[in-house]
Amino acid sequence: GALSVPPPGCPEAPALSRHLRRSPHPRRPRLSRPHAAKPSHLRKAYTFRARSLACFPFLLVPNFASRDALSPFHWISVSRPDAQGGQLDKAYQIFKRMPVKDLVSWNSMIAGAARSSHLKDAMNLFSRLVNSGLVPDGFSFSSVLSACARAGARCYGMWVHQLMDELGVEKNHLLISALVDMYAKCGRIDVSVEIFNNIKRLHLSTWNTMISNLAGHGLGSDVVMLFHRMELSGVVPDGVTFVALLTACSHCGMVEEARQYFETMSTKYSITPKVEHYGAMVDTLSRAGLLDEAYNLVRSMAVKPDAVIWRALLSACRRYHQTKLGDVTIEQIACQGSGDYTLLSNIYSSINRWDDSEEVWKEMKKKKVRKIKGLSWVELGGSTHEFKAGDRSHPDSDDIYRVLHGLLKKAKAEGYTPSTELVTKDVSQEEREENLSFHSEKLAVAYSVLKTGPGTEILVSKNLQACGDCHEWMKIISKALCRVIIMRDRVRFHRFESGCCSCKDYW
Ligand SMILES: [Zn+2]
Ligand SMILES: [Zn+2]
Repeated sequence: GALSVPPPGCPEAPALSRHLRRSPHPRRPRLSRPHAAKPSHLRKAYTFRARSLACFPFLLVPNFASRDALSPFHWISVSRPDAQGGQLDKAYQIFKRMPVKDLVSWNSMIAGAARSSHLKDAMNLFSRLVNSGLVPDGFSFSSVLSACARAGARCYGMWVHQLMDELGVEKNHLLISALVDMYAKCGRIDVSVEIFNNIKRLHLSTWNTMISNLAGHGLGSDVVMLFHRMELSGVVPDGVTFVALLTACSHCGMVEEARQYFETMSTKYSITPKVEHYGAMVDTLSRAGLLDEAYNLVRSMAVKPDAVIWRALLSACRRYHQTKLGDVTIEQIACQGSGDYTLLSNIYSSINRWDDSEEVWKEMKKKKVRKIKGLSWVELGGSTHEFKAGDRSHPDSDDIYRVLHGLLKKAKAEGYTPSTELVTKDVSQEEREENLSFHSEKLAVAYSVLKTGPGTEILVSKNLQACGDCHEWMKIISKALCRVIIMRDRVRFHRFESGCCSCKDYW
């Protein structure tokens, strides 16, 4: 099977195929290996498999532990994301020693790696699965596509898409949503829209994926139009749809639309607002400076406000210099015991309450609170590179730091001053402790500058929000280098060009 047919709606595909032939990673599948099934036979078997998988109800459940109950790896699937690196290692040790690795064990490993943010490992395992002669199934494809989406690994994701087409994989709604999500998160929202538009009967989850990705790109009016189309098509929106709609409103400053959606949600569709809906609504109002309305909404909530809501409110209090309400917010974060210790500690140190800040850290250590590591990824030269704050593990580390120092100097000459205002962002512990200059997204940008020619667009993906300093720095660097830098963080896309960001500095 040659990978010569470009996937539909994928203008870069022919060039990609050439690139794949040269590059050792990602590898082409070796379907013609002597012990592997003949491609035609294989395709038939595959279609059958895909069909039967589509019937399994647990495919709809993100945690498909039930299927893996017999596998030694079932506990990877049930483990929480972003936390269980150690468990993954243990699983890999068992996996390595297995004389016969069946598809279920491969899938558990890939899904486990993707869930625990070992995105490079997920992709490498998928390549190895393909090279082993086994045929990946719906599970393998949806896991690896989610890893590509989160790492922003566009080339690898396109290869996976080509492979699906080549194997004649029947695309159920989960795989379609995974593809739409992957292209959008890798900066190709145009391809996502094209895939989406070519599907005749769209499933609710695919509508939701499309709406939330348009929101992430800050395309508010497209979201409004798409939702209208969804209502006309007769698909009934659910709670997830409204989270996406309200998020779009907050990113685009659409206060009136947000009020309407919030109202429609319960009156027309009988959906009780959950904490996420309130969160997006509070965020929309706060950003627009409507702090009284936002605070009243918080007080009227039927559910307990979480740290995200208070953070949105606090962020706006700072922006609009509302110190009084800001203090109320801080007390709320402190007394509700949300477990958001890093945030609280950052807040205390930012207002010089050092003793309180110290107390929070002690509490956190005592309770052994699990923290999510801040990671950034960039895809270059056919593989994905991962960075954490102050990372020196990359083989090109010396060159990366040399470039980074040069960029810092350049930025300073353009008027950049490092700012330690980390407070209302979900900055990780490592990032808090590490020198600001060596945050993971700065290292990823330095590596891209090192490896690409002038003018090339830079795409960095991050698992948390960027801190204010990195955001400011990227703006200045985009101007100094005359380059477009795109950074996708946990919440949205930031497009830095000529010293400005598409989020208009409010994220
Ligand atoms: Zn930073
Ligand atoms: Zn921005």
